[in-house]
Amino acid sequence: MYVPMLLNDFLDRAVKLYGSKKAVINTDGREYTYSELNERVNQLSHGLQSLGVQKGDRVAYLAPNTLEMLEGFYGVFQTGAIMVPLNTRLTPEDYLFILNHSETKILVCDQELYHQIAPIREKLQTVESVLIHYADETCEDINYDQWLSRFSSNRFDRPEMDEQDVCSLLYTSGTTGNPKGVMLTHRNNYFHALSVQHHLRVSDKDTLLHILPMFHVNGWGSPFYYTANGATQVMLRKIVPETIMDLVQKHKVSVMHMAPTVLNGLLQYYDQKKPTFDHDVRIVIAGSAPAPAFVTKVEEEIGWEFIQVYGMTESSPLSLFSPIRPHLEDLTKEQKYRLKAKAGIQMIGCEVKVVNDLGDEVAWNGQEIGEVITRSNSVMKGYWKNEQATMETIQDGWLHTGDMGTVDEYGTIEIVDRKKDIIISGGENISSIEVEGVLYEHPSILEAAVVALPHEKWGETPHAFVVVKEGVALTEEEVIQFSRSKLAHFKAVTGVTFVDELPKTASGKIQKIHLRNQKWEESGKSKDGRFVN
Ligand code: ATP
Ligand code: MG
Repeated sequence: MYVPMLLNDFLDRAVKLYGSKKAVINTDGREYTYSELNERVNQLSHGLQSLGVQKGDRVAYLAPNTLEMLEGFYGVFQTGAIMVPLNTRLTPEDYLFILNHSETKILVCDQELYHQIAPIREKLQTVESVLIHYADETCEDINYDQWLSRFSSNRFDRPEMDEQDVCSLLYTSGTTGNPKGVMLTHRNNYFHALSVQHHLRVSDKDTLLHILPMFHVNGWGSPFYYTANGATQVMLRKIVPETIMDLVQKHKVSVMHMAPTVLNGLLQYYDQKKPTFDHDVRIVIAGSAPAPAFVTKVEEEIGWEFIQVYGMTESSPLSLFSPIRPHLEDLTKEQKYRLKAKAGIQMIGCEVKVVNDLGDEVAWNGQEIGEVITRSNSVMKGYWKNEQATMETIQDGWLHTGDMGTVDEYGTIEIVDRKKDIIISGGENISSIEVEGVLYEHPSILEAAVVALPHEKWGETPHAFVVVKEGVALTEEEVIQFSRSKLAHFKAVTGVTFVDELPKTASGKIQKIHLRNQKWEESGKSKDGRFVN
């Protein structure tokens, strides 16, 4: 018999087996058990129904990591509606685009963030009601707390749902162009949760500190497997290293997922304050390749096991994981940390390949570069209202990630660069990330981004945009010489533009597309070919 995989199954399991166990600890001190959380979830579903929400409607959330955000997941899904989590660091214009593009019916917004919505309120074409979390006296909309208390906490009659139904619409970070609305289904997230669960082995003894923003796909997927296993979930409203270290000790946190920049901030805090603290942290998980030295520091100095993951919004998100497999346990520590600094090996339930232009898998030699493609039950249904982009991205069932990588002898994939950012000089591929890595070693360089510039002889050549640290002087020649001293000459930068800051997405990723376009326009060359985005 066919039993659809629906995300509310996870909360149902927790209520049945761990009803009296602490489910959530909110930043304001409120704590709820899984049974109590479920009651609030039911109230929310009844409330949304009273506002006319039906299966397939869009309910957007603009909120930091709070209890209300977590209950939003299950409360929205239970009605069959689609959740649209919004990045809290966007501009009013971005929100206008996303809310109108997604045709959102209900907007749920934290009071602290409402000032981002106020300027565009009149232009929202489809929003019928706005609910405000932590409403204060300025709130002219629905006060969420008061509103929620009016509804029954009894079981909610769920509409008929299928696992292929879309449950969320997540907009990508917009690093390489406009954000795209990614349609994820119940099945996508269910499989993803089971797969991550297999690798992380979450249990009812775990306490998760929600550091990754739940609006972002990386943080968005995690409530499912922590809920299903009856783990305790501690909310974090604002990322402050000191607060994180305090909460880790206070609540005996055992697992944390975070961006590498946050982990870097924790390492710096640890260095400065040298806090002596007892901790029960068994694992920290972060995306994006840090250097082996970074991994060593996390594991050796603080004593947290580090796991690197790789993913993208379009794959729910994770498809690569970097645990050390048993048959590799005899590696030296140095070899082990070098492996962990790579994106990882394919997760259970995910097929991941690195293929050349002909579609053949590259050799497992750590040298040959190809595009990373993946196929799994976690790959999105498609882009919302953008069939063209869907067809270009998913071909014959394979999601083309647009990331370039190599595979080593153990099958570990290393991300070399984004396809659009690779520099092709004299027929050689140059990883912009590799060149940037070298520039970051220069003591006067705060930030660097390397892009392709058109070149008469070589086709393209690496050009650096550099932000210099405060109070220091640096010349173009010095940067060029520095890169030549550390890299093969064809990889060294041939020109430098000094800037005050680099263009970034709301999640802090450098938007090289803007830098590249600026240079290509200046050169008077056509942006035709691979630079068209
Ligand atoms: P957009 O698609 O709008 O341009 P984006 O690709 O930055 O934005 P996300 O889905 O948030 O949006 O990010 C996924 C990307 O992040 C991946 O395609 C990859 O380039 C990068 N990434 C994720 N994990 C890793 C990792 N472990 N190592 C290197 N890069 C990573
Ligand atoms: Mg992307």
